[in-house]
Amino acid sequence: MTDTGVYRVMIENAMDAFFLTKTDGTILDANAAACQMFGYTQEEFRGVGRKQIIDIDSPGLVDHLKKRQESGKVVCELIGIKKNGEKFPIWVSSVIFSEEGNEQKTFTIIHDISELKKREEELRTAERNMRVILNNTNELFIVLDKDLNIINFNKVTEEKSRKLLGVPFEKGRSIFDSADPQRLPYLKQLYADVLNGAIRQNIVEIPSTSEHPKIIVEIRYAPLKENGEIIGVIINVHDITEAKEKEAILLQTNERFHYVAKATNDAIWDWDIKKDEVLRVGDGLKNIFGYEIEEAAHEKNFWIDRVHPADLQNMLEKRKYILFQTKELYWEDEYRFRRANGTYAYVFDKGYIIRDKEGNPERMIGATQDVSQRKESESLLLELNNRLKKRADELINSNVELERFAYVASHDLQEPLRMVTSFLQLFRKRYEGKIDETADQYIHFAVDGAERMKTLIMDLLEYSRVGSSAEVFQETDTGELLATLKDVFYKTCEETGAVIHIGKMPVVKANKTQLFQLFQNLVSNALKYHGNQAPEISMSFEENEDEYIFAVKDNGIGIDASFHEKIFVIFQRLHSRTEYSGTGIGLAICKKIVERHGGKIWVSSEPGKGSTFFFSISKRI
Ligand code: ADP
Repeated sequence: MTDTGVYRVMIENAMDAFFLTKTDGTILDANAAACQMFGYTQEEFRGVGRKQIIDIDSPGLVDHLKKRQESGKVVCELIGIKKNGEKFPIWVSSVIFSEEGNEQKTFTIIHDISELKKREEELRTAERNMRVILNNTNELFIVLDKDLNIINFNKVTEEKSRKLLGVPFEKGRSIFDSADPQRLPYLKQLYADVLNGAIRQNIVEIPSTSEHPKIIVEIRYAPLKENGEIIGVIINVHDITEAKEKEAILLQTNERFHYVAKATNDAIWDWDIKKDEVLRVGDGLKNIFGYEIEEAAHEKNFWIDRVHPADLQNMLEKRKYILFQTKELYWEDEYRFRRANGTYAYVFDKGYIIRDKEGNPERMIGATQDVSQRKESESLLLELNNRLKKRADELINSNVELERFAYVASHDLQEPLRMVTSFLQLFRKRYEGKIDETADQYIHFAVDGAERMKTLIMDLLEYSRVGSSAEVFQETDTGELLATLKDVFYKTCEETGAVIHIGKMPVVKANKTQLFQLFQNLVSNALKYHGNQAPEISMSFEENEDEYIFAVKDNGIGIDASFHEKIFVIFQRLHSRTEYSGTGIGLAICKKIVERHGGKIWVSSEPGKGSTFFFSISKRI
């Protein structure tokens, strides 16, 4: 085969399109690849013009043709047109040649670069996307070459490098240029490791400056590889200040939680409702109930299983109900809980419910308190209260009975007594001085006894009447009341030379008759128990928010402190009848009246220094 023959075969079998054209562009010949590329048969190609297969709007076409005309050859990129009109990118290499004596021709090789272009486009898109990502992220990316010179960095690095690293980044500079000399050995080792394929990471604290507060960054160093070969280093800087601060706050909060848990005696718990996991902290569980925290952590239903069976249902239902109420923030309950030693403790359990935006419960944090002691004292108190109430009821009953008895006795005794007295008097009238002296004495004793019995019965009747009649409390002017009382004692005062001083007195709400009797008893005692000088009695009052306090002061014989309380007990007397007459009922009646008015009665006295009787009357009667 001749050389020409060989070339022919080569061209026919080539992958690229080969064209032989006239200088005006008319195709003279085309190979099989050209047919396939453009969709023509070889016959169809003949006579086809350049314009039909090359887009005349291809950028730079005119220039390329001009260049070919001048230099005889051109290599350029154009747009091809297939027979079906479809356009595609082509790489064109064209030479003008002329065989001796013949007219000039062009030989053109066309390579379909559609695939190449597509790849290029894909690569460009990928690169663009990468750039967009890198330039829109908050993280810094810096690329170093093998010699650790900066070869590229993203936009945020440009903006922040000065702030974060104290130096502006410049391509071409060594990464060590701005490094702290002290850290240099460490950094050199680090980069050497990375260039050997290792990935390194460190956290650096950048102290605060006038421009910014303290910043904490996490830096990641990774080898940059191309076709498996390490060609440099990629540095990624991530600002973790906020995350670190949050972490610190969380740590602090957790720490505080632990301290609180330690400080309190309660059993502290944290229930993740969604996961149904309970975290227990502090020593409460051990101290109060005798369980180890680890023991509780490993048992799924640790708590529920130890709630007293009689309380469990109620406790669960109540808790479920509260958790269901989307606005409820607290749950609390009291129930019995089994200790490690098998006995039951009364507990007060209270939790704070953390809810999501919809109000669904997410977590509950709470404390369990051992209230067994309180419960015990409560029940003791209750029992004591009940006993007291029973006793009080009994007392009331016996008091009522006593009063009834006193009333009936004194009332019913009056009649036979009256009979005894009148017959005794008749007896005296007829027989006194007629029998003998002894008989006269007996008659005297009998009459005297009957008289005394009469006074006693009258006083007793008086005593039993206080409180037995329906009590009417009305506005009572004590000033007026005492003026009347003064009249009652007018004669006695004249006889004994006694003086009664009455200060300004209030209007009070009281049972008028009883209040009169109360003052009467006190004044009559003050007159009765006088000393050597003429009695002088002063009456005054004070008041506070709750009560009026009256005082009846005398200059009498006084009372020894040991009798200050006894004198208010019925029938208690300090003197014999021969010294001072009386039945010992007067002050008991006073006490009863005062108590009916919500007050108290007491005395302040010393023998020989007079006495002051005080009594109070409640304003809220
Ligand atoms: P009675 O006067 O009938 O004995 P009271 O109940 O009125 O009974 O008084 C009880 C006792 O208190 C009296 O026996 C007397 O010893 C003492 N007492 C009462 N008032 C005075 C007073 N103003 N000064 C001294 N002693 C008094």
